Amino acid sequence: MVVVVGAGATGLGVGWDLALRGIPVTVVDQGDVGHGTSGRFHGLLHSGGRYVVTDPPAARACAEENRIVRRVAAAAVEPAGGFFVQVGGEADSFRRAWLEGCRAAGIPTDVPVARLTPDQLRFVYHGDAGAVVPYRWESGDGQVRERWKPFEGVLDTVLRRYREAYGEADRQVWAQYLTARPCPACQGARLRPESLPPERPRPFDWRRANAFASLRAVRHAPDMLRPIFAWCCTWFAISASQTSFILANQLRFGWSTLQNGLALALMGVIQALVQGVLLRLATRRLGVHRTALVGYGASVAGFLLYAGASRPWLMLLGIVVLSIGALGGPSVQSMVSADTPANRQGELQGTLASLQGLMLVLGPPVMGSLFAFGTRPGHARFAGAPFLLSALICLGALLALLRLRPAAGRAEGALPEGGLSR
Ligand SMILES: Cc1cc2nc3c(=O)[nH]c(=O)nc-3n(C[C@H](O)[C@H](O)[C@H](O)COP(=O)(O)OP(=O)(O)OC[C@H]3O[C@@H](n4cnc5c(N)ncnc54)[C@H](O)[C@@H]3O)c2cc1C
Repeated sequence: MVVVVGAGATGLGVGWDLALRGIPVTVVDQGDVGHGTSGRFHGLLHSGGRYVVTDPPAARACAEENRIVRRVAAAAVEPAGGFFVQVGGEADSFRRAWLEGCRAAGIPTDVPVARLTPDQLRFVYHGDAGAVVPYRWESGDGQVRERWKPFEGVLDTVLRRYREAYGEADRQVWAQYLTARPCPACQGARLRPESLPPERPRPFDWRRANAFASLRAVRHAPDMLRPIFAWCCTWFAISASQTSFILANQLRFGWSTLQNGLALALMGVIQALVQGVLLRLATRRLGVHRTALVGYGASVAGFLLYAGASRPWLMLLGIVVLSIGALGGPSVQSMVSADTPANRQGELQGTLASLQGLMLVLGPPVMGSLFAFGTRPGHARFAGAPFLLSALICLGALLALLRLRPAAGRAEGALPEGGLSR
């Protein structure tokens, strides 16, 4: 039996871990659960940003831990964005040192936290550097009044009042505005998926609603480029199967329509098992990143088997191996989705669908031409040419994912910590 003294985050974590290991444990506290600092924390996941200048090793440790938490407990983390506030009186050299420290620690600093443009955000948070702006309001007697005065900015106002607060009670009053809290009107009910808060659905815009705009959107998400590249590779490579699978089998093995149909049915059944059962198990055991690597590795091997199959059984083996490759697509989709803010999930899925469509438009002419070239009369036949190209493409995707930092399966810019956490 283990007795843990202190029912804060640390004590309860230790207790939980011991219980999971089957060790009897009792957690005691002088007060109640969360009696200490754990009952007061702001709920922000540290990015490490605040240590980048004063303690770079701690910053790197925080950033790494942040990635791990976001990977192993993605459902518990809401990527709400993050920002650090430069307040008046701070030397600009600190800002530069801080940005440099973030770069060194791998903490992105260029991801917007809201739909507002940076200028708009800056104005809302920090006001307009003393310039007077008009305030209009309707008074009790229905008259619209106007007054011109400087706008200090929401954050600067609250921060100043927090700092100037006299005594702990007064500080707590201002601290509550610096903390994520359920909405007093709906108690968080609007957060249910079926009733999204007003800021979640983004207004529809025709300029974004096409495949080429999707490509532009991807350009602005450098952390997602590798998984999205892999996603495109998947769909381009698949074109080889769509255009050449049946023709190559007829040519090389003389397969009939029925035999080709059975082979495709086999492929369908295995892929259903892979995506319905294996994907879940693999993701749990290996994590999304490694599952993607396994998927793309299997795709390379499967397409190579297709390319070189000199006997029907090699083709059947290729079907099994390539079907395991079906782990890849959903994994990279999950990687990018996990790092996309809630109000952009729809756009992300649209982007992925657009890119998939583009690849399925571009892929067949290339693969079909390659098949025609490889089997042109009067030359040595190589019906596996399109599959060889697909193997190379999947290898490119595999290499791109291999070079991805293990936990970086998403736009890490959305590191959810603000400069206001303790
Ligand atoms: C206002 C505030 C905001 C914060 N915001 C964040 C944040 O956004 N993100 C973040 O990561 N961290 C944040 N922190 C820090 C974070 O809350 C603490 O690091 C964390 O809660 C520490 O947990 P703990 O279990 O180690 O300590 P505690 O939660 O303090 O737990 C210690 C427990 O031990 C009990 N205890 C002590 N002595 C005895 C005794 N002799 N016998 C019995 N029981 C005893 C206490 O009652 C207490 O319940 C914040 C802290 C504060 C104060």
